[in-house]
Amino acid sequence: MDSTEFAIRATGLQKRYGGVAALDGFDLAVPAGTVCGLLGPNGAGKTTAVRVLATLLRYDGGRAEVAGFDVARQAAQVRQQIGLLGQHAAVDDILSGRQNLILFGRLYHLDGAAARRRADELLAQFGLADTGTKPVGQYSGGMRRRLDLAASLILAPRVLFLDEPTTGLDPRGRNEMWGTIRALVAGGTTVLLTTQYLDEADQL
Ligand code: ATP
Repeated sequence: MDSTEFAIRATGLQKRYGGVAALDGFDLAVPAGTVCGLLGPNGAGKTTAVRVLATLLRYDGGRAEVAGFDVARQAAQVRQQIGLLGQHAAVDDILSGRQNLILFGRLYHLDGAAARRRADELLAQFGLADTGTKPVGQYSGGMRRRLDLAASLILAPRVLFLDEPTTGLDPRGRNEMWGTIRALVAGGTTVLLTTQYLDEADQL
């Protein structure tokens, strides 16, 4: 496999849940620095594919490489290269946006000063500087999703997985999210996103 060419590569991936084959010979090759959309109805296996590639779920057969590392045998190295925006928010409602990002920074082993600096950079980048001290429970859906995305970017990952990044957002929130994704890809990040919207896959 040529890791300089493809940031994500899966060959014949298999994943079963009991009698259900969620992935049955799944192949994927995503060139570095591009965005790839996995489109499909509920239950198609999109989330399973993302969870397998992000090392959250073991697969039963096939091969997968992310950022040049084998997903099964080099999971720790893969984790250092990726960010993940899951379907459900990872941020805490009681903490402020800034406190959430500092917490994530600490979980990524940044020291206190570096975590605070990174939190402030991300709040500014995502237009959340003014609301950074408000509890996340008072954020709108779009703001919360942006904060969630910011939390997945603490270490500026080479490969970013986005599981239905715009589900539940209004048209303005979707547009903002698309703009953010385009900017990340322009900056060299490889993005794999799942979506149920044909126009979203088309747009990106
Ligand atoms: P959605 O658009 O609803 O998120 P999806 O394309 O992401 O759907 P998956 O969540 O990957 O689909 O599910 C693929 C299949 O695997 C479905 O048939 C689902 O019911 C099944 N499945 C997923 N997770 C589990 C689990 N933890 N245990 C058993 N079956 C599961």
